Amino acid sequence: MTSVPLVPDIPAPPVIALRGVGLTYPGPPPVHALRPCDLVVRRGEFVTIIGPSGAGKSTFLNIIGLLDRHTSGTYELDGTDTGPLRDGDRTALRGRRVGFVFQSFHLLPHRTTCENVALALVYRGVGRRERMARAEQALRQVGLGARIHALPTTLSGGERQRVAIARALVGNPSLLLCDEPTGNLDTATADSILELIDELHRSGMTVLVITHDPAVALRGDRTLEIRDGLMTDRVAA
Ligand code: ADP
Repeated sequence: MTSVPLVPDIPAPPVIALRGVGLTYPGPPPVHALRPCDLVVRRGEFVTIIGPSGAGKSTFLNIIGLLDRHTSGTYELDGTDTGPLRDGDRTALRGRRVGFVFQSFHLLPHRTTCENVALALVYRGVGRRERMARAEQALRQVGLGARIHALPTTLSGGERQRVAIARALVGNPSLLLCDEPTGNLDTATADSILELIDELHRSGMTVLVITHDPAVALRGDRTLEIRDGLMTDRVAA
C-alpha cells in the first residue's frame, strides 16, 4: 500500500506571477503603456527592470504595487489573483505584502525616524508600544539604531533613504518594490544603499528595483528591459 503524506509538499507560490498582463489607457487615442507580458518572480529573487523615460516603468510598478489596475491578463501576488479584488481588499493586500521605496523618501519632517517607520503599522492594528519596538528593530536592521529619535531634517540623504527602507520592511512584506531608490543620491551614498539592498536580498528578501541606470540594473540576479511598453529579458552584453 502506498502511503499518502498527511501534509502534501505544495511549493510556495511565486511572489509575482503575470500572465498576459498589460495596461492600455483608453484615450483617444489609446496608449499601450504596458503591452501584455508574462513574468514569474520567485521568493528570494532580485530582479531589476531598466528602461528609458516614457518606456512604461511607472506603469509596471503601479500594477505590481497594486496602485493601478491592469486592463488585460492575470496578476497573482503571493498566490492571490488580484484582478477580482475590490479596492479595499487590494489596499489591504498591498499593505501586508508590498514594501515601497521611492526616489524621494516621503518622510514626515516633524516625526522622528522611529515614528515615521512605526506609522506604516498603524493600519495593521498593531498597538503603539509594539509599533515602536518593531520600528526600532527595523531601524537597527538598516544601520540606524543610533538615530531612532532623530528628525528626518537632521539626516543625510542616504540616512533618509535608510529610514524609508526601514519603513518598507517593518511590516515584513513579501516584496520590496524600489523605484529609482538611488536617484536622489550621490555615487558613494548610492553604493551604500545598493549594498543594503543586496544585503536584504541575501537574507532572503524578494526585491524588484526599477531604474534607468545600467549600473543599478546590474545588481539584479536578472534584468528585464521595458521599451515602448514592451518588456523583454535583457541579455547581458
Ligand atoms: P516611465 O515610467 O518609463 O517613464 P510611464 O509608465 O510613466 O513611463 O509611461 C508609459 C507611457 O504611458 C508613456 O507614453 C506615457 O505618456 C503614457 N501614460 C502614462 N500615464 C498615462 C495616462 N494616465 N493616460 C495616458 N497615457 C499615459
